Amino acid sequence: MPEGHTIHRLAKDLRSDLVQGPVSASSPQGRFNRGASLLNGKLLSNTEAWGKHLFLRFSGELILHIHLGLIGKLRPQPLDGSPSETVRLRLEGKQAWHLTGPQKCALIATEEFISITDALGPDPLRRGSRWEDFAVALAKKKTPIAISLLDQSVIAGIGNVYRAEFLFLLGIHPERPSCDLEPGQIEDLWALSVSQLRQGVRLNRIVTVSREDAGRPPGRLKPKDSLYVYKREGQPCRRCGSPIRISQFASRSCWWCDRCQSR
Ligand SMILES: [Zn+2]
Repeated sequence: MPEGHTIHRLAKDLRSDLVQGPVSASSPQGRFNRGASLLNGKLLSNTEAWGKHLFLRFSGELILHIHLGLIGKLRPQPLDGSPSETVRLRLEGKQAWHLTGPQKCALIATEEFISITDALGPDPLRRGSRWEDFAVALAKKKTPIAISLLDQSVIAGIGNVYRAEFLFLLGIHPERPSCDLEPGQIEDLWALSVSQLRQGVRLNRIVTVSREDAGRPPGRLKPKDSLYVYKREGQPCRRCGSPIRISQFASRSCWWCDRCQSR
């Protein structure tokens, strides 16, 4: 599933590609015909990401809400490329964008926009988000921190890769009750989220291994060398050599190091 950095990067790239003039919209798959016909010929006025939700605002007070879910993709395409029949929505400006397999693609009213964003926790990439709100939400949770980090009402935009990597980087055991974290650890977790997600937007992928540990800048690391623990069960920890462990939290696998992340 795409994490927050992907959605913020999409918001930025879509803005630069589509904001100049009227946008052509169509639904080659047919499942979004009505929505696409309302959008066709409108001007894109703004794009906005909040956690894993993407909102595109068009003239005529139209708000397009996209959530990619587990398998959705929104990718740039050459203008002369013909869309396959799986494309839910095609947008055309300076170049074309194809949306496939989204969990959500709908035109929504302002009230719905407000109710969706009200239910979301602070997003580390949004201006004005406060770590104190994250701390208040964690203080109410007895659940393991590995579960709370995927709860979008606690912090918006963290997915399965970042949660495992952040807990490793801060030496926090995934089973640690959320409410037991010390204020300093919560502040560190927030600061790490801000810096890592910003780097994710810049690189358009997740690289958590530091220059110190890798001996080269994050942007030059191959995918197999980019992460400390995610999907590395049984392989040696990059810092201590212990085999990386795997456990289930919130029905999703989480990877961790027994030695670096003490109980
Ligand atoms: Zn280790």
